[in-house]
Amino acid sequence: MLNIVIFGPPGSGKGTQSAKIVEKYGLVHLSTGDLLREEMARNSPLGIEVRKFIDKGLLVPDEIIMRELYEKASEYLDAQGMIFDGFPRTIIQAEMLDRMLVKREIPVSIVLSVEVEEEELFNRMMGRAQDSGRSDDQAHIIRHRIEVYKNQTLPLMDYYKKQGKIAVINGMSPVEIVFERITRAIDTYLSTEVILPEIN
Ligand code: AMP
Repeated sequence: MLNIVIFGPPGSGKGTQSAKIVEKYGLVHLSTGDLLREEMARNSPLGIEVRKFIDKGLLVPDEIIMRELYEKASEYLDAQGMIFDGFPRTIIQAEMLDRMLVKREIPVSIVLSVEVEEEELFNRMMGRAQDSGRSDDQAHIIRHRIEVYKNQTLPLMDYYKKQGKIAVINGMSPVEIVFERITRAIDTYLSTEVILPEIN
């Protein structure tokens, strides 16, 4: 059983790397951002509710996120493992995830922290804005999402550092090279249960 949290600022390539990890290791991909965007596209009551937050670049309240996640995760009880992408984003979510996984006796194995410099993040998101069709890929909202990340999500680094689970991945390289660093982190963990603290 392998439970991975992929952690990093918006635009750090979490979604792209998650898809590649899923393909190689056969995990279930749980992206809260994707789940919420599906609800918005369907115009469901939940979608209408969360749009108010997402379109402003704000985090969706923890209760809503946890309800969605519980529901989704329960569909995959027999999976080989999961990759949590864009979740947790607050300490409260991380504590709730730990409680959920402890009940199932499958704690978080490793937290991949993908690090990319701020201007590079901004440029990547502006670059994808035309194709992504995402209502939150606009300059002032992108800036705000990066600030929200720094204020509300970055403190999670300490939470997972205390648990000895963080592998910092240098994300300032082309997709394949970043993926090679990620596989080095995961393969080392799988063969030795050692978490490499930093991978360049
Ligand atoms: P993402 O696709 O992960 O960048 O998420 C897009 C947006 O969805 C974020 O800016 C938040 O508004 C919302 N969102 C996604 N995941 C979470 C989460 N775990 N907690 C709170 N809000 C979230």
